[in-house]
Amino acid sequence: MQTALHVYNSKNRQVEKFEPLNAPFVGMYVCGPTVYSEVHIGNVRTFTSFDLIYRYLLHLGYKVRYVRNITDVGHLLDDTSEDKISKKARLENIEPMEVVQRYTVDFHQTMGRFNALPPSIEPTATGHLIEQIELVQTIIDRGLAYESNGSVYFDVAAYSKQENYGELSGRNVDELMSNTRDLDGQSDKRNPADFALWKKAEPQHIMKWNSPWGLGFPGWHLECSVMSTKYLGEQFDIHGGGMDLKFPHHECEIAQNKAGYQKDPVKYWLHTNMLTFNGRKMAKSEGTGITPRELMDGDHPLLTQAYSPMTIRFFMLQAHYRSTLDFSNEALQAAEKGLKRLMTAYNTIEELPASANSTVSVEELKEKLYAAMNDDFNSPIAIAHLFEAVKWINLVKDGKERLTSDDIAALNTLMAHMIFDVLGLKDEASDDSSEKIDGLMQFVLRLRQEAKANKDYAMSDEIRNQLKALGFEIKDGKEGTTYTIL
Ligand SMILES: [Zn+2]
Repeated sequence: MQTALHVYNSKNRQVEKFEPLNAPFVGMYVCGPTVYSEVHIGNVRTFTSFDLIYRYLLHLGYKVRYVRNITDVGHLLDDTSEDKISKKARLENIEPMEVVQRYTVDFHQTMGRFNALPPSIEPTATGHLIEQIELVQTIIDRGLAYESNGSVYFDVAAYSKQENYGELSGRNVDELMSNTRDLDGQSDKRNPADFALWKKAEPQHIMKWNSPWGLGFPGWHLECSVMSTKYLGEQFDIHGGGMDLKFPHHECEIAQNKAGYQKDPVKYWLHTNMLTFNGRKMAKSEGTGITPRELMDGDHPLLTQAYSPMTIRFFMLQAHYRSTLDFSNEALQAAEKGLKRLMTAYNTIEELPASANSTVSVEELKEKLYAAMNDDFNSPIAIAHLFEAVKWINLVKDGKERLTSDDIAALNTLMAHMIFDVLGLKDEASDDSSEKIDGLMQFVLRLRQEAKANKDYAMSDEIRNQLKALGFEIKDGKEGTTYTIL
């Protein structure tokens, strides 16, 4: 049983004890979306997984700086050298920044509906052009990048003499360098494995900036090296993203950081797995590319009904973030029922009859829940234990098991911590009922008061911050604590 947090480090391909570089501070960087279209449900799963990780770290009392970027330039389409955002702007005849604005707002709204906490800092690539140009220059100065016809490429062959290009993804550098397949249109490279740090802008290209190498734009990988370093330092604790980003994106990030700052940037690399629908890869071309909005509206030929944001979130958390997750109507309907059962049971805890002794152990349940979460954020196991509690609650209600009043209170707190703080679920049934919201708020404020009385200021601050993120502002006054809905 894990009593301390352990995480699976993709770089070392093993589970390791989580020991932050400067505890209690934790720096976490997650690659954010490229804002040229509605966020993909696969990305929602990635960001929901990191929301769970962020919430659990906060719950453990770590002071987390969570940086998640917005890619608003430089993400080239695979088959052409056109920027995804520029292409959308050209097709819709609007400004690139209109594309960026529209889909940034849409992304925030969508993640808000899934009850994801906002990151501490959300930097944009276009806001960090100067820093990116500086890093390119530094890498050139170190002899690990070269200019070629107005573009700058990372010199993988030169870098590989000192470092292991492929250390994260397990790719073989000799094979990469002999692969001539993707040289088309990029003949400025010395070597097929080299990647762009800076790209020369063709005259028709809309998004371009001045640089020592002429008008151009940064390569996609560069922004994450620059922004993670700027806000989290040259070395930080966690770097996350979908596993499809391992290569080339994250491999290139490591290479850029080692070449530019001469430090191995990340202690723990965390990667989330993919989504499928009815066992098939989710892709627009196969008719399985369902958007979050379509899921929430039930507006897709493959869907038999609409699913609420919390049903979808709960469903996602029922799989471990490193496992593939298969969407199907049956599985989503099961999640909908399960979540209702969990919330109903939780809402009856306070009404349970108290006995002189307990026949079930809340302490043991608590150990099991934390052991699951400490085991690489194993939410499906934690949820399975929560359902054990659901079973008890119903048995206690029927007089077939017993709990003392202290244990009832402890169970109430434990389940609130897990369901709301860690798993980030909301009771949607009470969403439209102001009376229920008020009851819940009074209860949460009481928990916060208890935390304060126990000098658990990390917890009381966390409650205040999370309430704020959910749209509740709380004020401490002489007459007690009050709240307003923002
Ligand atoms: Zn990135």
